[in-house]
Amino acid sequence: MSDAEDTDRPAEGGCSCSEARAHLETFLDHECDGDLYERLAAHVASCRHCGQIADAEVHLREILRSRCAEQAPAELRARVLGRLSVMRATSTVTTVTSAQGTTTVSRRTIRYTQG
Ligand SMILES: [Zn+2]
Repeated sequence: MSDAEDTDRPAEGGCSCSEARAHLETFLDHECDGDLYERLAAHVASCRHCGQIADAEVHLREILRSRCAEQAPAELRARVLGRLSVMRATSTVTTVTSAQGTTTVSRRTIRYTQG
């Protein structure tokens, strides 16, 4: 496979592909300083290869964000549900002594709604 365009020469923006990729995360997070941001933006705009990588990364983040908004990751969900069932099992039994005699009151320590 020969990709003539996959070179590491600096593009018009003045930063190389490897530099652009190294800072891609901070670039997309808008966490790099103005000068670097400008150069990365110029590179991503002028370099087809890095532009595609940036697009894919942005797309991936959107998917992750929307999925997280929908529901928690399966592992976390299972852990939370596991804890809830444990909590449900540990209902406290309180003995109340009243004038009428001894009454045993079963009381849940944790109230929650499922679903
Ligand atoms: Zn590039």
